[in-house]
Amino acid sequence: MTEKTQQFASDNYSGICPEALETLLQANHHHELAYGEDRWTAKVCDRLRELFEIDCDVFFVFNGTAANSLSLASLCQSYHSIICHEMAHVETDECGAPEFFSNGSKILVSSGNNGKLTPESIERLVQKRSDVHYPKPKAISLTQSTEVGTVYSREELLDIRNMADKYSLKLHMDGARFTNALVHLKVKPKEISWQCGIDILCLGGTKNGLAVGEAILIFNKAMAEDFEYRCKQAGQLASKMRFLSAPWLGLMENDVWLKNARNANDRARDLARQLQEIPQVSVMFPVEANAVFVEMPQPVIKALHDRGWRFYTFIGEGGVRLMCSWDTRLETVNAFISDLKDVL
Ligand SMILES: *Cc1c(COP(=O)(O)O)cnc(C)c1O
Repeated sequence: MTEKTQQFASDNYSGICPEALETLLQANHHHELAYGEDRWTAKVCDRLRELFEIDCDVFFVFNGTAANSLSLASLCQSYHSIICHEMAHVETDECGAPEFFSNGSKILVSSGNNGKLTPESIERLVQKRSDVHYPKPKAISLTQSTEVGTVYSREELLDIRNMADKYSLKLHMDGARFTNALVHLKVKPKEISWQCGIDILCLGGTKNGLAVGEAILIFNKAMAEDFEYRCKQAGQLASKMRFLSAPWLGLMENDVWLKNARNANDRARDLARQLQEIPQVSVMFPVEANAVFVEMPQPVIKALHDRGWRFYTFIGEGGVRLMCSWDTRLETVNAFISDLKDVL
């Protein structure tokens, strides 16, 4: 077995992209103001406002769990509830952090094809109860792209916004892979964020090529009130903030974030195309972003693991999850397929 230099387990197995690393090094030349008062952070915030074409408030935190849970906490009181898909990261992979940081807001899960909520599924949950004994729905959390690698279209988002308006619900987007959706839909950032009524977007940086860090974009400024205190209390205010923020400049200049996401999406498509030709495996969901979910016989999974391939089998509805990253090479895809054919 040869040592694998790339894996399909997660898009956070990859390293830092060169452009982000470069701006990180540039930020290391001089002393700077601390706690986000520095020039790098100001510059990145402005750049994000420019790219999203709106004067939003921007915050940087260390990871997605913090971004999501602090955002949701700011949308809800403890007696409220948050509607999300049953496979949502906020429900399955954050160890109760949204409930913890909101002091008890309850997460209500709904099902839906391809990892997506629908207006109907939301309405069903809202209408289930309206009495004082049940936590009042206050927010919807959508994952874009979804946990199973599909993408909400602009129309789907607008329909959900309409339903949200009907019941005065706020809209949060877990955009750990927002850029992969952007590239798939070939739209501008605003077209699938605030123009669809998203109140808060957690924009993923780590999986797009940063070492660490996610940005929180609060489009509805009233909802940003005191948010910096929330971050500080949660241990999410970096004192040397420039090292969280400066790498974003590397992503944001010259469309590097789009280039990175496009590579990940394209490799996933390459992988899916080859997998579809193998009768013993079946692709489980439309491949629209950078994930491919496949069903394959258990002995085959074991044989691939034995050959040194790492991938998860417990995410979403089960099956094998293969994630591509900003730097996944076609040779890696081909090597995986070749090993798969070999063990079949
Ligand atoms: C990776 C991921 C996150 C962030 O997870 P952390 O490990 O907390 O950074 C959030 N949402 C989704 C859908 C993810 O895949």
